[in-house]
Amino acid sequence: MRQRYLLAPTILNLPILWSKLFIGLDKFSSNGYIVHMPAKIVPTEEQIKKVKELFDLGYGARKIAKELLVTRDHVQKICKLLGLNTADRTCPRRNHLLTEKVCKTCKILKPINDFRCRQKESLIGGIIISIEPYCKDCEKDRNKERYYNDVELTRKIARERNKTRRDHINEYERNRTYSDPAFKLRKKVSAQIRQALKKNLSSKGNISFLNFITYSLEDLKLYLESLFEPWMSWENYGRYTKSTWNENDQSTWKWSLDHITPQTHLPYTSMEDDNFKICWALENLRPYDAKNNIEEGNNRSQEEIAKIKEEIRIKRLRK
Ligand SMILES: [Zn+2]
Repeated sequence: MRQRYLLAPTILNLPILWSKLFIGLDKFSSNGYIVHMPAKIVPTEEQIKKVKELFDLGYGARKIAKELLVTRDHVQKICKLLGLNTADRTCPRRNHLLTEKVCKTCKILKPINDFRCRQKESLIGGIIISIEPYCKDCEKDRNKERYYNDVELTRKIARERNKTRRDHINEYERNRTYSDPAFKLRKKVSAQIRQALKKNLSSKGNISFLNFITYSLEDLKLYLESLFEPWMSWENYGRYTKSTWNENDQSTWKWSLDHITPQTHLPYTSMEDDNFKICWALENLRPYDAKNNIEEGNNRSQEEIAKIKEEIRIKRLRK
């Protein structure tokens, strides 16, 4: 016989009926089972006072419950009685007070700075700070693994994503070009190399030229600055435009990156070529009047090249 029938509230099931009539706490469900109901919440004066106090201190229901050692329901009931709204109270985040944390992947206890931190604006105001469960090293490994798992696919996804973000990226690059000379330099050099390779029916293929030169971007920047003429600055690094150039007004002048031995004398089809190395060696570069650069073009004789290089050597020795 199934239990259901055993427990059915018939006149024979006297103990159950008794509990129903005299204890009042347990109820019968429709199929005859006993359902235990929680005890009715009866807040004491003390608790009500304490809740009001803590609420005024900015505590939320969860924290008040923890303080008073009662359930959250209990606190919410009291708040309802008092007409207090705890819905907009959040438990204060303690994450940002942590000083160290165990990484979920390598299981090593590391200082909190070894974890990436995310900041998000909360819907109800304020900022939510969350700390990643994996340390930066593990994250790097994971990203690398994902990347090399299918390079073509990752790149394709990135390209698609960039397409939709193009406007945003353009604006970012424009702003950064104005404020960061090293960035501007990098962009321009990269473009020059791309053009030269394209001219020689090759392509740069999204590979950074920084992997193929023997100096850093910062070195290049400082080197060019050391050869600046008084009117030159990173603001007037650019190309010659006939319409804006005024021979009598230095403020309209521009300078460009000049290859002392011209690029056309040193054709290269890859950044691994010897000609590339000679062309982009620091000694072959200088900041130069953009107009003269265009006019002199590629008609520089070997004697002139040697002369310019000697001048630069002396100029740098003097500094
Ligand atoms: Zn780790």
